[in-house]
Amino acid sequence: MEAKYKSVSLSDFQKRFPDDESCLKYLTEKKWENGFKCHRCGHQHFCRGRKKYYRQCTACRYQESPTANTLFHKVKFSLQKAFTIVYFVSTNKKGISSTELSRKLQIRQKTCWLFRVKVLQAMKSKKNVGLFGRVEISDFELGHKRVAINGNTVTLVKQVIIGIEKWKKGVSHIYAKVTISKNGREILNFANSYIQGDTAIKCYGNPGYRKLNDIFTDVKFLKKSEGQILPLSNRVSKGLKAWLRGMHGHAELMQYYLDEYCYRFNRNRMKAEIFDHLLERMINHPPRTYKEIITYAPISRNIPTANSS
Ligand SMILES: [Zn+2]
Repeated sequence: MEAKYKSVSLSDFQKRFPDDESCLKYLTEKKWENGFKCHRCGHQHFCRGRKKYYRQCTACRYQESPTANTLFHKVKFSLQKAFTIVYFVSTNKKGISSTELSRKLQIRQKTCWLFRVKVLQAMKSKKNVGLFGRVEISDFELGHKRVAINGNTVTLVKQVIIGIEKWKKGVSHIYAKVTISKNGREILNFANSYIQGDTAIKCYGNPGYRKLNDIFTDVKFLKKSEGQILPLSNRVSKGLKAWLRGMHGHAELMQYYLDEYCYRFNRNRMKAEIFDHLLERMINHPPRTYKEIITYAPISRNIPTANSS
């Protein structure tokens, strides 16, 4: 049983990806494993490009590198170091801070920070599974910033809704979302996005949660005042809050950190595959600029047409 959940060791990783060449080869194989399609015109035939591993479209002559149109686009340091960051972010049980990455890889902390946030883009839930069976929904608040208003110090608060799927006596999957309020609409939005239809739900009977009755037939409302609690939700929320406090200072990026935490939590039983899984997601994810990341700009999968410049 133990071996099944064992993650890839650092020495195995280094043997597999000893240099940039091995990383480029991997990117090439993965990126075009289902065939080539020109990013500019959609044509499916190519010839060798001007550099090794580049491909040139035989129709419009667009040259595409293995990193172009992926999250590795224009990476500011060696590809091998970029792969190393993906390795640490995916396999460390609690992730890894940019400060620690900076120390390990001898890259500026800010540069590590930005690339780490790019990796987090690939950890976002695809929402194509959804929680089902027995599910608890609850929420918590996280004070994230102390500001002075009219001479008083006020702590600004973020609300987080969390859904957990029970499995035997433990938890199998979780999803968490930053929200502006806990009103009925937000609770329903969360449930619609992350929970399958015929699910048995338990939650506290706070006003917003009553709306769940609109779409679910099996909802049990607990009374906190009578000592009825959701022990698993309490435990998961506590772990998540402690992790958020310990790891990060950028509250505006909190949704990415929640995605990161849930991604690793949900893949706890696929430790051997998680690194490859994350690499593949990064290859299939369009590039993101710093500005797009911090503004949560929608992801554009825009493939330019043949007559665009
Ligand atoms: Zn083309």
